[in-house]
Amino acid sequence: MEKNPIRTGIFGGTFNPIHLGHLALANYLCEENWVDELWFLITPQNPFKQEQTLLDNHLRMKMVEAAIADYPRFKASDFEFTLPRPSYTVTTLQKLSETYPDREFVLIIGADNWAAFDKWKSPEEILRNHRILVYPRPGYEINPHELPAQVKAVNTPLLEISSTFIRESIASGKDIRYFLHPEVYRFIKQHQLYNK
Ligand code: ATP
Repeated sequence: MEKNPIRTGIFGGTFNPIHLGHLALANYLCEENWVDELWFLITPQNPFKQEQTLLDNHLRMKMVEAAIADYPRFKASDFEFTLPRPSYTVTTLQKLSETYPDREFVLIIGADNWAAFDKWKSPEEILRNHRILVYPRPGYEINPHELPAQVKAVNTPLLEISSTFIRESIASGKDIRYFLHPEVYRFIKQHQLYNK
C-alpha cells in the first residue's frame, strides 16, 4: 500500500532573528494538525541588494536551529542557499518536491502575502501543485468563502512581535529576552549580534 506523503509546511522568512511570534504560529500549525512537520526556510541574503541589518545566512540558520532543537516536528532548511537568487517560491517548491518525493509541501503565508499573491511569479502554478495555509496578519481581512479550494485560512493566535523590534531593542541596550527562545537570546549575546 502506498504511504501518505508527509505534509510538510514551508514557512519562509529572513528570521533575523527568529522570535516567539514565528515559533508560536508554527507550533500551533503542527499541534492543530494542519501539517505533520514544518520547515523554516531561511531566505538567503540577496547579493544584489545590500541590506545592512540582514545578518549572515549561517548565523540566522544557527539561531533557527537553536530555537527548534528539542521539537521533532520542526526543521531548519537552508534549501534556498544554493538556488539561483532571487529564488522565486514557485521554483523553490518545485525543487523541494523533486528532491523530497515522499513529502507534500504546503505553503504557509500571512494574509498580507495572500493579498498580493496574484503579483507573485506563476501564482496559478503554485496553486495547481500546492495547498496554502493563510494565517491572519493585522490589517488584512480574509473572506474564507472567497478562497480557492486548496487555500485555507487558519485562525492562529498571534503574538505581535517583529524581528525589527527585536533588533532595535537590542541595539538600544534593552533586555528583551522574553520575546525570544532562551537559546536564541543566549546565542545573540554570546556573538554580540545586533549591537550598534
Ligand atoms: P522584520 O521585522 O525583519 O521584517 P519579520 O519578523 O516581520 O521581520 P520575517 O523574519 O521575514 O519577518 O518573518 C517570516 C514570516 O513570518 C513573514 O512572512 C511574516 O509575515 C511572519 N511573521 C512575522 N512576525 C510574525 C508574528 N509575530 N506572528 C506570526 N507571523 C509573523
